[in-house]
Amino acid sequence: MSASALFSPELIQKYDVSGPRYTSYPTAVQFTPEFDAAAYVRHARENLERHGDRPLSLYFHLPFCASVCYYCACNKIITNNRRHAADYLERLFREIGMQAALHGGARPVAQLHWGGGTPTFFDEAQMSALMRVTGEHFTLLGGDAGDYSLEVDPRTTPPGTIERLRELGFNRISLGVQDFAADVQLAVNRVQSEEETRRVVDTARATGFRSVSLDLIYGLPHQSLASFDATLDRVLDIRPDRLSVFNYAHLPHLFKTQKQIDAAQLPAAAEKLAILERSIERLTDAGYVYIGMDHFALPDDELSRAQRDDTLYRNFQGYSTHSNCDLVAMGMSSIGMLTHSYSQNLKEAAPYYAALDAGRLPIARGVELSEDDRIRRDAITRLICHFHVGMDAFSKRWNVDFKDYFAQELARLAPLADDGLVDIADDEITVLPPGRLLIRLVCMTFDKYLEAPAERTRFSRAI
Ligand code: SF4
Repeated sequence: MSASALFSPELIQKYDVSGPRYTSYPTAVQFTPEFDAAAYVRHARENLERHGDRPLSLYFHLPFCASVCYYCACNKIITNNRRHAADYLERLFREIGMQAALHGGARPVAQLHWGGGTPTFFDEAQMSALMRVTGEHFTLLGGDAGDYSLEVDPRTTPPGTIERLRELGFNRISLGVQDFAADVQLAVNRVQSEEETRRVVDTARATGFRSVSLDLIYGLPHQSLASFDATLDRVLDIRPDRLSVFNYAHLPHLFKTQKQIDAAQLPAAAEKLAILERSIERLTDAGYVYIGMDHFALPDDELSRAQRDDTLYRNFQGYSTHSNCDLVAMGMSSIGMLTHSYSQNLKEAAPYYAALDAGRLPIARGVELSEDDRIRRDAITRLICHFHVGMDAFSKRWNVDFKDYFAQELARLAPLADDGLVDIADDEITVLPPGRLLIRLVCMTFDKYLEAPAERTRFSRAI
C-alpha cells in the first residue's frame, strides 16, 4: 500500500484526538484496587479449570536502567548498583513459583518476553538464573518452538551476551535506537553509536535469532525532516524485520524525566507530521507493511502473515501472533491477562518486595470483564489488528445481532464513513487506508467507557 493512500494531512488534522492505544479493553484506566490478589487467585483457578488447555505467554518486567533517557515514560529504576538486580530477582523467583502453581506448570509456554527497563542490566549469570528458574516452574519449549523475545540495550550489552541469550532460548530481539543523530541523542541523554547497534544486530543474526526489531521515535529535540531521513537511511540499511516509529508525547507533568527536555528544541507540529509522512513513504517504498499503531514489518514477517490470515492479536506487549494464550505477567507494574480479567502488579519496588516477602501475590489492581467488555474487546481487537470486522460471523460468535447491539456505534461511525476513513457494507466494517493511521479513533467508537468526555483527556494523541 502506498504512503499517499495511508497519509491524509487533512483527515489527520481533523481527527487526531487523544485516545487509548488499546493494548487492552477495558484499558488500564478502568482497573481498580477492588480486583486484588484474592480476586486474581479466584480468577486464575477458574481459568485453569475452564481453559487449562491454553498455552501460556510469560512476561517479565526487569526495571533497572544504568542511565535515564529523558523521553522515557516506562516504569524503571535508574541505578548503577547491580546489587539491586540480585534483590529483585530473589522476589521475582518467588513470584514465578506462586504464579506457576496457580496456572499449571505443564502448560506450554508459547511466548515469553523480557521487557524493561533494561533486561541486559542483569549480568549473564543473573539472566541464566532467571531462565533456569522459569524452566523449573513452567514448561519452556525447546528447538525454537516458542517465540522468546527480549529488549536489548546495546549500550549495556557486552560482547558474548547475545550469544548467551541465544543459548538460553531467545529467538527474537528488540532494540531501542530512537535516532542516530548525535545532537538528538545528546539532547535525550541516550548516546548510542550506530556501531553498537549494528554489532548487536549482526551478532543476533549470526547466532540465529529469527527476528530483529528496532524502535525509532519522532518528535524528539533537534529532529528535522532531513535529520530523520538520514536516520532512516541507516535503519533501512540494517533492514530490521520489524520497526516501530513512535510519536514522542511531551508530557513533563506526568513523566518527570521529560522535564530535562527543552521544549523549545522540539520540532513543530508541521515538521513532525512531515517526518511521519516521510517515514511511512520510505518504509512502504522499502517493502514494509504498515501493521497499525506505529508498527511496520517485512511482508514475510509473522506479524504481516498473521495480519493477512486474520490471526493477529494485540496485548500489553503490542501486536502478537499468540491470541490463544493466557498472559502471566511477573515483576513490578507488569500487566497480565486471563480470559475474563486483567491484573496489574504493584508499581514500586518496596511494596512489591514486601508483598512477596509476606507470601502474597503483588497484585495492585485489575478488572473483571463483563460479557459486554468481552464483546467490545473482540470488535476493537479485530479492527485494530485486521482493519475489518465481519458482522455475521461476529453475531454468531457472540450470539447477538451485531447491527442491533452496536446500533449507536454504527451511527457514530457514519461521519467517519462519509470522510472515507471506514466503509460500512452490509456485512462488514472495513477500515480504509486513510483511517489506518487513525485506527484508535475508529476503535474508540466501540469503547463504552469513553462515553464520558472526561475519560478522553487521559490519553495521548495518535500523531
Ligand atoms: S528508554 Fe529504556 S533504557 Fe531508557 S530509561 Fe527508559 S527503560 Fe531505560
